[in-house]
Amino acid sequence: MDNATDVRVRFAPSPTGPLHIGGVRTALYNYLFARSLGGKMILRIEDTDSQRFVPGAEDYINESLAWLGIGIDEGVREGGPYAPYRQSERSAIYRKHVDELLAAGKAYIAFDTPEELAAAREATPNFQYDASTRLKMRNSLSMPAEEVEKLIADGVQHVVRFKVEPGETVVVNDLIRGEVKINSDILDDKVLFKSADNLPTYHLANIVDDHLMKISHVIRGEEWLPSAPLHVLLYRAFGWEDTMPKFAHLPLLLKPVGSGKLSKRDGDKLGFPVFPLEWHDPKSGEISSGYRERGYLPEAVVNFLALLGWNPGDDSELMDVDTLTSKFSLEHCSKAGAKFDYKKGLWFNHEYLMRTPDDKLAELFVPILKEKGVEADPEYTAKALGMVKQRAELLPDLWEQADFFFKAPETYAEKDVRKRWNKDTPAIMEELIGVLEGIDDMSSANAEKIVLDWIAGKGYHLGNVMNAFRLAVVGACRGPHMFDITELMPREEVVRRIRRAIEVIPVPAEK
Ligand code: GLU
Repeated sequence: MDNATDVRVRFAPSPTGPLHIGGVRTALYNYLFARSLGGKMILRIEDTDSQRFVPGAEDYINESLAWLGIGIDEGVREGGPYAPYRQSERSAIYRKHVDELLAAGKAYIAFDTPEELAAAREATPNFQYDASTRLKMRNSLSMPAEEVEKLIADGVQHVVRFKVEPGETVVVNDLIRGEVKINSDILDDKVLFKSADNLPTYHLANIVDDHLMKISHVIRGEEWLPSAPLHVLLYRAFGWEDTMPKFAHLPLLLKPVGSGKLSKRDGDKLGFPVFPLEWHDPKSGEISSGYRERGYLPEAVVNFLALLGWNPGDDSELMDVDTLTSKFSLEHCSKAGAKFDYKKGLWFNHEYLMRTPDDKLAELFVPILKEKGVEADPEYTAKALGMVKQRAELLPDLWEQADFFFKAPETYAEKDVRKRWNKDTPAIMEELIGVLEGIDDMSSANAEKIVLDWIAGKGYHLGNVMNAFRLAVVGACRGPHMFDITELMPREEVVRRIRRAIEVIPVPAEK
């Protein structure tokens, strides 16, 4: 292996709901790994569990990966030499492989009903269907061949179980964790196939497809590590040890505070999404928030996720996808869980907003403007956003900061009015209108000089005049440099706003 072109990885989600952010990280690491070695990235949909299938989940997966720029070389949509890439369309392939194991005596047929299994569990503490119990159960190892044949011919439901040989040491060589050894005694005879829906279980389908699709590396979440010994035994049973993929089990994503695995509840509690895109649950109607809809930039999410379980070996933090690709290696993935520091995610987003050219920001801002019922010239929008972006973490923060560029204030911050609007203010604002109208060149520095000279010449209080000016134009004492605002905003609009403020802000009786 390690011939670059042989590198083939797969992301193999089950469409049982929205893709969790941990799954997105798994996809990203597979993508970076493949890209860093000139390999191929495969997307396989593992939908053999018909009970857990959720409509819309597959589209959601595709749309999430597309939004994040995680490119797929072979998959359901892309096609490829090993199609179909949706497991529910490959049942004949699995059936053939199950029959092969049955013929070789490496698997057997079991007829135990759910009630019988429950009774066995009841009767024996820590019951496990394995070498120590299988002969007491109803299966093709314990029953005469004719009876087995008859039951099958009668259409009695059954499963195929893997025959785990006891007392063997199973070694999983993990590129992140090193050698993981277990004794096969702890494994049960896992169900590989169910006659009820004529479909395999995850374990069988996963192994058969990894083999047939020539997967070189299995990079997946730590939660799959307990399945790995069984997978190794399955490779052996099929005689595929020589082409067995290398394993790399990624560390867990941990709660931002406290201990344990990151959950949706942590997100709900602390106010961050755990899904890439907003998800509308088709059954409950519940809506879960997504990074995209919250106003994160996909590049920022990618950068943030890349560092949750991997480090570049130096202290670089801001890395675009090309840099991440060039630096990525499994050796630098950690075993220890990665705390999901969502505040760091906000920091990344801020940094990416700062690096996004203003005209691009204006494009991303169009949906927000639309939602607010505002139409604006793209160039004007770009300049306005450029002035406020240093104060924004998420796209909607840009509206919080720049709203006044697009809408005249309807109310005026009470506290600022109390502090800055006194009985002389209306007259001074009238005068200011005259000063502004007399300026030829409204560029920031020029207008500033003229207005400040006028204030000084009249002996007015600089802070009060400038803040009243700001209050009239912005609606509160906030926002970028006042003369940058008036350089961009049409003068008629500035004047109109001052006039309206004079009209509507009540003058205090005595001040
Ligand atoms: N279908 C499994 C999942 O939902 C795949 C696990 C694996 O990558 O082997 O994550």
